[in-house]
Amino acid sequence: MNTKKVLLDEADLPDRWYNILPDLPEPPAPYLHPATLQPLGPEDLAPIFPQAIIAQEVSQERWIEIPDRVREIYRIWRPSPLYRAERLERALDTPARIYFKYEGGSPAGSHKPNTAVPQAYYNAAEGVKRLTTETGAGQWGSALALAGSFFGLEVTVYMVRVSYDQKPYRRALMETWGATVYPSPSPRTAAGRAVLERDPDSPGSLGIAISEAVEDAVGREDSRYSLGSVVNHVLLHQTVIGLEAKKQMELVGDYPDVVVGCVGGGSNFAGLAYPFLADVLSGTRTGTRFVAAEPAACPTLTRGVYGYDFGDTAGVGPVAKMYTLGHDFVPDPIHAGGLRYHGDAPSLCILVRHGLVEARAYRQNECFAEAVRFARTEGFLPAPEPSHALRAVAEEAAAAREAGERRVILFGLCGHGHFDMSAYDAYLAGALQDIELAQERIDRAVRDLPAVPA
Ligand SMILES: *Cc1c(COP(=O)(O)O)cnc(C)c1O
Repeated sequence: MNTKKVLLDEADLPDRWYNILPDLPEPPAPYLHPATLQPLGPEDLAPIFPQAIIAQEVSQERWIEIPDRVREIYRIWRPSPLYRAERLERALDTPARIYFKYEGGSPAGSHKPNTAVPQAYYNAAEGVKRLTTETGAGQWGSALALAGSFFGLEVTVYMVRVSYDQKPYRRALMETWGATVYPSPSPRTAAGRAVLERDPDSPGSLGIAISEAVEDAVGREDSRYSLGSVVNHVLLHQTVIGLEAKKQMELVGDYPDVVVGCVGGGSNFAGLAYPFLADVLSGTRTGTRFVAAEPAACPTLTRGVYGYDFGDTAGVGPVAKMYTLGHDFVPDPIHAGGLRYHGDAPSLCILVRHGLVEARAYRQNECFAEAVRFARTEGFLPAPEPSHALRAVAEEAAAAREAGERRVILFGLCGHGHFDMSAYDAYLAGALQDIELAQERIDRAVRDLPAVPA
């Protein structure tokens, strides 16, 4: 019998995160100030983030030590298991060996606590009392609520209105961990009031909720803001996933030919893929491929424009160079709420531009078909977001069959879907729409990008 799951000892929990910045094929472009569009200095970020996080955001150190108190909490669910998906292999009729790294076993049910915990730790260590953030489907808000409870921090979450109404259990989860949750747009901030004035029934968007959370944090000395994806320090923290996966693959004597993950802002993908990409960037390995899967309704990497854009609708947060669909873009309400951000992590965008990561976009129904196949073979019920990774895995499995090669596929199952049963309900009832983004909406986004001095 083949090994089903590879478990590491607690002693094998990584003691350092991998920082890809010094290894990128080109240095990341500086963040710009949203008002002046001039490069940001650390002093501009001080009202938003604690010093330790600001330092990590621009660090050129390849390895960054994980504090003991963070590792102590990681130990609740880490090291996470790596599974061999033999039953899925048979269902896909492929000679490929398929492995997945499962992050759904964290208390919040996704990879997000991997960064929420260190962020809460660094804030608490610098005397911050309160964290603000935004959440879409509620995954990030619940991870930060959990982390806040470990370090005695107050947590205020601006939750995108549609999700607030549609996902009452995620809100209840956040409140159980002690967080306060407001539907966004809210009358609590100038950004929220401006939107409500134009459209009192606004469904909200991640961009609007970010604006509110940043404004709230900047307005109070005891508060800082916390981000769940996109920025360098978040991707850094998530590399515990790939560092563990590398050890686990080594234990079974395999190395992936292709690494697959879904991309919303890029953090779970980067977390799994970057430690393997390090081997390609250093020249230790050649031929490993990396596939980033995103929704056709929000196809940032496959169809977005590469340039500077605001990270949020109101333009209060830093401006970043990335693939973007425009900061005003409000995607159609697909069920993969975590994949609806208009931009992507700058480091990932550089890797896509250089052809080191390949991006593909998929529609809802083909993804849910794979999620259901997975649930019926491997048992775990995927969140709607990693169902996109599963769709790419099915393509890779078919390609391996056609080539007659026993390729090794590794993918990230970054969260479970227990709070997304209404989405499964809709899929099983044949009521899911396949939404593809119209080109004219992207063309409009290009016109709205900020005019950054060359
Ligand atoms: C938030 C989330 C995502 C998208 O964010 P990334 O930063 O791209 O990982 C994907 N899957 C799950 C389960 C999430 O909670």
